[in-house]
Order: sequence, then structure tokens, then C-alpha cells
Amino acid sequence: MNAGRAVRVPGPEVLTALLSAALVASAALLLRPALGGQSAVPVPVTLRWWQLVPVFALAEVLVVHLELGRHTHSFTLSEVPLVLGLLFADPGELLVARVLGGALTLIVDRRQSVEKVGFNLSLFAADGCLALAVFHALGGRGVTGALEWVAATAGVLAASALGLGAVTTVIHWHGGRTDHRSVLALTGATVMCNSSLAAVAAVLLVHERWALLPMLVVLATVAVANRGYVQLTKRYAGLDLVHQFTRRTSGPVGVTGTAGTAAVVLDEARSLLRADLAAIALCPADPGDAWQHESLPPRRRLALPESVLARVVGERATVRIPRGTRDRTSRALLEWLAVRDLLVAPMVTNGRVIGTIMVADRLGETSTFDPDDARLFTALAVQAGIAVEHGRVLTQLHLQVRAREHEALHDALTGLPNRVLFTRALRTVLEQAGGGDTRFAVLLMDLDQFKEVNDTLGHHNGDLLLQEVTRRLRAAAGPEDLVARLGGDEFAVLMPRIMDERDALELAARIHTEMDQPIRLGSLLLEIGASIGVALRPDHGDDVSRLMQRADVAMYAAKCAGQPVAVYDDQADWNSPRRLQLAGELRGALSDRAFHVRYQPIVRTDDGRIVAAEALARWLHPTFGELSPDDFIPLAERAGMIGPLTEYVLDQALADCRAWLDTGCDLRVAVNLSVRVLRDVEWPAKVAALLETHGLEAERLVFEITESGIMSDPENMIRILDQIAASGVAFSIDDFGTGYSSLAYLQQLPISEIKIDKSFVRPLPVDPGAAGIVRSVVDLARNLKLGLVAEGVEDEMVLRGLAEVSCPSLQGFHLCRPKTADELAAWLAERGGTAPEVRALGRPS
Ligand code: C2E
Ligand code: CA
Ligand code: CA
Repeated sequence: MNAGRAVRVPGPEVLTALLSAALVASAALLLRPALGGQSAVPVPVTLRWWQLVPVFALAEVLVVHLELGRHTHSFTLSEVPLVLGLLFADPGELLVARVLGGALTLIVDRRQSVEKVGFNLSLFAADGCLALAVFHALGGRGVTGALEWVAATAGVLAASALGLGAVTTVIHWHGGRTDHRSVLALTGATVMCNSSLAAVAAVLLVHERWALLPMLVVLATVAVANRGYVQLTKRYAGLDLVHQFTRRTSGPVGVTGTAGTAAVVLDEARSLLRADLAAIALCPADPGDAWQHESLPPRRRLALPESVLARVVGERATVRIPRGTRDRTSRALLEWLAVRDLLVAPMVTNGRVIGTIMVADRLGETSTFDPDDARLFTALAVQAGIAVEHGRVLTQLHLQVRAREHEALHDALTGLPNRVLFTRALRTVLEQAGGGDTRFAVLLMDLDQFKEVNDTLGHHNGDLLLQEVTRRLRAAAGPEDLVARLGGDEFAVLMPRIMDERDALELAARIHTEMDQPIRLGSLLLEIGASIGVALRPDHGDDVSRLMQRADVAMYAAKCAGQPVAVYDDQADWNSPRRLQLAGELRGALSDRAFHVRYQPIVRTDDGRIVAAEALARWLHPTFGELSPDDFIPLAERAGMIGPLTEYVLDQALADCRAWLDTGCDLRVAVNLSVRVLRDVEWPAKVAALLETHGLEAERLVFEITESGIMSDPENMIRILDQIAASGVAFSIDDFGTGYSSLAYLQQLPISEIKIDKSFVRPLPVDPGAAGIVRSVVDLARNLKLGLVAEGVEDEMVLRGLAEVSCPSLQGFHLCRPKTADELAAWLAERGGTAPEVRALGRPS
């Protein structure tokens, strides 16, 4: 019962006791009319109290339990002896038999609490008196006429109504809810059925006593058949529950991480097994570590003793401890956890036990976990294991990425933000400014004699110098200003809020004064000068690259003029950046067919077969030579040229794939897609047309989309990808591990393959963290039934590492660098369509 009791408002126990007292009082009030209507007519059959007691007890035992909400409703045959008693027993004896027979079942069979027994017996006394009073008031007598049947039925109905009202009230006080309408209907139906049954029994009792036996046979048969039916229904319900559980726990949208997944799994387990409590214990990652516990409700730590956990894990067996168990150790365990009953099952994924899941305290007063529940729970535990493991892998990935991002955004020597973070901050400030006229300034600073210091005094002193410069810059800058080291001896300051040019010049002057002070390095005192360039928004530009470039121009102007500080002046801008030139040339290059496609094979690990080739775009530029996609894809995206460029690459790739097929090279071709291309509503039609032109099945083509691209707009991506995937084209998630995808989206996307990012693959031999992640992603892909390609296989060590964790496919410079279509065909022909390095792995050396 509830531990915490309110001080002033009486608790449910007190209220129940009061209600019991009220029931006893009403029984006393009804006693006179109940006992008064003694029949004057000679009774054909007389039933004695000691004959009725076992019938009442038996009728209470044959009970149908219905679980409604948190409580159990019981429907019994108890109206049958009540009707028989009304007809053939002395009223006083009937009351005695009703209470005694009821007590017998409640205490011996159902082992109810004192509180409940007290309440139920008061109720039996009261409803017995009420039934008698109504029966007599309607003129019922001890015979088997129609009037008697009506009077008895009315009496029993009144008794049931009283019982129903009292029970519902008590359930309400204990915090339960009942569906009044369905309970009322059920009770009415039971009463009618039972009283009719009793009428037939009464007639038989008077006229054809032997016929009671066949009637009992019929009843028993119906009871047994009903039992079988209930069991069958339960089994089907079990299957359905496993299915529901899998669906709900595998797709919690936006939920990642062990704790998040565990909470969802626990909630589902609790509701499906109708348990009050649920808990998960995760095996220690290393032998020295502790078990990790999560439970629901979260306030309650339901930590099983490690001996029990070890047993469940070791034997891989589900443990069931039902309510009222006689086993001593089991009882001790229940007491220790302060629960009434429990189920514990091992969570197994990929043949490994990762922990245990437990539910405890089955809802409802009489019900407990039965062997069917244990079987169901064993199946749920497997699904729970998979869900929890997936959550864990994603968390691990996210943590690594975050750590790496910090590393990637800061300078190791000075701890200052680096160029990437600086430009990101600048972009944010620009976005916040929008079209408004907020003014801010970018300052770039370059040391005058740094190279000399580095060359003559060594790198160590160079580093010390940079650290001292950092300290002085921070001292000069205001709290809102962002100081960054862009590289070498180049620093930058972003002033996110200024009134006008003078504010920026003041800071520049302060920095200059700081830099003008001699710097002490050991016994040396160095004079270090600096040149500072200033660019202002909106005066000199309204985007990141223009502001950066113009601050740079100003800085060079200052240096050339021998001044400490210069503000950008467009008259002096002689710098034409390569990027602007390239952007201008893109369109022409596309029509001049200056773009080429190279192919890099994707190799199956188990037999070394080349199964696919990834198309990688190149730009053969007249002045800059062969440009990498990193130089022109972002430009093409911004210039609105990515659509035509991708179409060009796809066309070429499909033509080459056709040519390979014609010469007997059975390859699929993978093409990289920008999210921008997918937003083009005509894209699916274009793809279909190109496949048709080259006479290729859709199954030949794989589109690679980056994980971050998908996660930028997951709901829409699911819709668009579904549409294209329906045609048979496959999708692969590129650069997996860097885009924070959630399990829910992974499962909803029509993808057939994951490509784990090379930043996780390359450090495999030297970094145990990376190795752990690759292993987890291999498991994840296997569980989700997806293909997995590891890209960035640069050397033999990485190759071996990947083979060891059974990564199914590989791609990288060690196996083959990107080649032209003809080169690739020749390369394949020479090697019989396999990569020798991978094939060699399979053979003992
Ligand atoms: P990605 O899709 O991740 O392609 C793999 C990149 O890794 C390629 O660089 C490939 O040359 C390189 N690579 C392959 N094996 C190794 C290895 O062992 N070590 C190292 N360090 N690198 C390896 P690439 O060709 O420079 O392409 C860069 C990115 O440009 C690609 O990354 C892809 O996202 C994008 N890209 C290439 N072609 C296209 C295209 O036609 N359309 C679009 N939208 N993007 C493209
Ligand atoms: Ca790719
Ligand atoms: Ca990639």
C-alpha cells in the first residue's frame, strides 16, 4: 500500500474503512425487512446454511478476471447461490452462508489483504440484506413461479448495483479508473445470465433433481473451452505486442543516446507487460567497470544484485518470480527490491549479451507474471537489446564528432578559435544582421618579423612568441570581440558591434600599442611590429569572403605603406581572387566539356571482387590544371550550376557503365548527389530518362548523399528519396558518422548502404576509439540489414583492421586510386575483376 500518506486528507485506506463501516450500518438497517418476510407457504425444498456455504465459496472461486486499467474486475457465479438461497433458504441462514462462503474464498483462495477482506465481507452482508429486502418487498416466496424469478432477479440486481458502486468508489480512491459504461453493461449481463441459470437450477431442484448433473457437465465444458480460448487469444496478443514493441522502440524520432533509448524501451516494456516498474542494467564495458542502471519511474533505482545479473547473463535465461512464490531465495530477492513479482531477461545483440531488462510489480491486485508473459518478455528483451545498442552506437559517434569538432575548430598552440570557427562566427553575425544596418568590423593582423624569429631562434621560441602575442591580443580586445588565429602569424578579431569606423580604429591602435612593447624571450628582448587591416560591414562588403578578403587587402596595404593600420580602400584593391574567376568560368567549362569523371572501385571484402565504381568529378582547368571537386562543387552549388553539372556527371557515368557492361565488366556505378539536386522536382524524371537512353536497369545506379545533407531536412528527404527509390535506384549515406542522424530517420530512409566516413577509418590501426566506432557501425549496419562501405583505406594496416571486424566493402587509395573509365576497364581486365590485396587476405600467408 502507499507509503506516503497525506496528513489532513484521509488516505484511501481510511476512506475504505469508513465505507466498510457504512456498509455494515446499512446491513443493520435492512435487517428487519430482510428477515421479516418469512414465507407462510410450505417450501418444497429447504436449503440449509451449511449446504449453501460451499456453493457460495465455489461460485466465488469460478471467477473470470478482467483487467481494466490498473485494477482487476472479477465476475463470479455468486448470483446463482444467492437466487437459490432467496427461494429456498431461511433469510438468516442465507446471510450467514453468504458471508461465511465469501470469507472462505477471499482468505484461503485469494489471500486478500485484511483491508480488502474487511471491505468485501461488509459488502456481502449489505448486499445480501438488500437482495432479501427487495425480494420480499416484491412479494417473492419460496416457490419456483415466474413472479419469484422476477423478484429474485430484482433483488440480485439491486445487490449487484450496490456492489458495483462500492467497488468503483474504492478503486477511484486508490487512484484507479474504470470504464463505467463497459463495467455496468458487463455486470448487468452477468446478473441476468446467473439469475436465469439459477431459475433453471431451482426448477430442476424441485422437479427433476437428477437433471442437475447434466447441467453441471454443460457448465464445466463451457468453462474448460473458455479457458483454452483465452489462452489462444493471449498467445496471438503476445505476437502482436512484440511487433508493437519493435515498432515503437526502434523509431523514437529524435531520440538518441543510451539514456534516451533506454527510457523509451522501459516505458514500452512497462505498458506491454502491465508492470508498474521497469529497469535496465547494462554490462560493464570493461571488467573493472560497474554495471549501469536505468529505471522507470526514474526516482526508483531497481538495481538487481550482481550475482543475479551475472546468472541471467551467464545462462542467457529469463528469470520469472511470480507473486506468492514459495522459493526462499526468490522471496528474499523480492523483499530486497521491495516488489511483489518480477521478470528479468538477457538483452542479446549480435550474439553478445549487453545487459538485462526487468519488469516488476504486475498491475492489478490478483494478477502476476505467468509463463506466457515470460516467453513474451524474452522476445521483447531481444528487441530491447537491439534498440539500446543502436542508441549507444549513435551516442558514441556523436561524442567523438563533437570532440573532433572542438579540435577542428581551435588552434592547438594558443587555444584560440581557428579560421573555420572564425568564419563561422562571422557568418552567424552576418545572418543576424540580415538586411539591417548593424555595423561591425573585421581586423586582420600579421606580425612583421615572425619569420625571422622562427628561423633564427627556432620553433620553440616562435611558439612562445605566438603565445605572448595571443595574451596581448586578448588583453587589448573587448569581452565581446572574438580573437582567432588564422594560421602562422596571422590573427583576426571580429568586433560584432561598433558605432562607426572610429571604434575599429581605436581597437587597432590599442593592439598596435600592445604589440609595440618589446617581448621578453628568455634573456632576449625582441621588438615585434604588426600590420593591421580593417574592413567594415556594410561599407566594404556584406558576406564572409568579401569582408575577409578586403581586410586582407587592407593589411597588405598597411604593410606596403609601412603603416601600422589601414582601413580598406577599394581604389587599392588589386586582388582578384581565384574563386571569383572560377565561378565566372563554370558555365563555359560545362559547355566546353572541360569536366571529366574518374572512377574509384568499391571492393567486396570476402572475395575481393570489384562490385561498383564511384564517379568523382574533375575539372581540367586551362591555368590551374586538374581541380578537385572540393574546389568547384561548393561554387557550382552557389552559382546554381550544380544541377547541370550533376546531370553531366550522371550522363557520363551511365555511358561508361554501359560500355563496361558491353565488355563484360559487371559493375554498378555510384554518383554523388547534392541535396540541392534532389530538391529539383524534375530530377526523378531526368534520372529515368538517362537510364533509358543508356539502356540500363535502375538497379545499376546508386546515389550517394551525405548524412549531413539528409539531416538538414530529414522529413522532406524521406519523401523525395522514397519517390526515387521506388524506381529501383539505390541510395547510400555518404560520410556517415559526421551528420548526427537519428536512428528513427535511418530506419525510415529507403537506403541500402552506409559509407562510414574516412575520418573514422584512417586512424583505425592507431586509435582504439576509432576502432570501437568502426566495429559498432559494422554491427549497426548488420542489424539494420544495410550494406557498409569503409572509405579511405589508405594502407595495409587499415585493410587488415577492417577485414578483422568483417566490414563488408572497402574503398581507398590502397586498393585503387580514382581512374578514367578506360583505365579502370584495363585495370579490371588485368586483375580478373578483383583487388589482389583484398583477395590475399583470405588466403593463409
Ligand atoms: P566523397 O564522396 O567522400 O568521395 C570520396 C573522396 O575520397 C574522393 O575525393 C576520393 O578521391 C577520396 N578518397 C578515396 N580513397 C581515399 C583514401 O584512401 N584516402 C583519402 N585521403 N581519400 C580518398 P574527391 O574525388 O576529391 O571528392 C571529394 C568530394 O567531392 C567527394 O567526397 C564528394 O562528396 C564530392 N564529389 C565528387 N564528385 C562529385 C559530383 O559529381 N557531384 C557532387 N555533388 N559531389 C561530388
Ligand atoms: Ca561519395
Ligand atoms: Ca565519403
